Amino acid sequence: MNSLLDAQGLVKHYQIGGGGLFGLGERPLLKAVDGVSLSIDAGETLGLVGESGCGKSTLGRLLIRLLPPTAGRVIFEGQDLTSLHGASLKQARRAMGVVFQDPFGALDPRMTVEAIVREPLLIHGERADRGRTAAMLEQVGLPASAAARYPHEFSGGQRQRIGIARALILQPRFLVCDEPVSALDVSVQAGIVNLLQDLQARLGVAMLFIAHDLGVVRHISDRVAVMYLGRVVEQADKRTLYARPMHPYTQALIAAVPALTPVGRAERRAKRIRVGGDIPSAMAIPSGCRFHTRCPVAMPVCRETDPPLVEHAPGQSVACYLYGG
Ligand code: SF4
Repeated sequence: MNSLLDAQGLVKHYQIGGGGLFGLGERPLLKAVDGVSLSIDAGETLGLVGESGCGKSTLGRLLIRLLPPTAGRVIFEGQDLTSLHGASLKQARRAMGVVFQDPFGALDPRMTVEAIVREPLLIHGERADRGRTAAMLEQVGLPASAAARYPHEFSGGQRQRIGIARALILQPRFLVCDEPVSALDVSVQAGIVNLLQDLQARLGVAMLFIAHDLGVVRHISDRVAVMYLGRVVEQADKRTLYARPMHPYTQALIAAVPALTPVGRAERRAKRIRVGGDIPSAMAIPSGCRFHTRCPVAMPVCRETDPPLVEHAPGQSVACYLYGG
């Protein structure tokens, strides 16, 4: 089966600052995304997990061409998005939506909810009558009366519902959800995740669901990719990844997810892998395996050569010398 979206060798590097005294020195390079290949099928949800600063939001923006890549390609429905510009890029992006992390900053406070939700229709020259926006508001669990009000009149969770309505009004086939619940109270997070899962099933839209912990994506994902310092270090279907994580970083992320039962908690303690220190800067990525400075089981080879992402079991790929390579 052909994928809906194929990312091939995606790279996003930024040249930073003026280059030392008088701007004559070498300008440091921030390697936000440093060679990522992945694919997403129609109607599938891929969870993308990693610590802050690992490049996952940048990757989400590259996939829908909100950012141009430094290198690599994104093939969406057979079309190379990286070669498109102007009207053809706008046309391709009609099939894509994005839900941002901050429901407070993402909505224009001077616009009514109706104007916010119907704006993408106007941008793409589509019919934008009241019935269409009211139906969309209903789908995200807001009353039709919300249309005439302004964003500041709503709670964080309700504002995120408005953002979701706006992202889905054009009936996209691919949706990037960039940490859509991390700015919300824990008490409303589950409601938004359930809503997205429900809409995904009803509308058949494929999703990239970005989060910084594995607990949030467990519920909603079909497959999960774990990202560390600009690279995907492990990728597997959900059941395999949570039952048999291979990469030491994935094992540490899973150990950090609170277990629900006493048995689960005891198992987690027994298997606990701890990762020390902070994630290194994306301007000073360690040599060899980029995780070796924090890996509790690093070997001499790990400091020298970068392990490639290799499929070790059906549907499970990992970048780690513990499994050969
Ligand atoms: Fe740890 Fe080495 Fe595997 Fe990297 S390659 S995760 S340093 S064991």
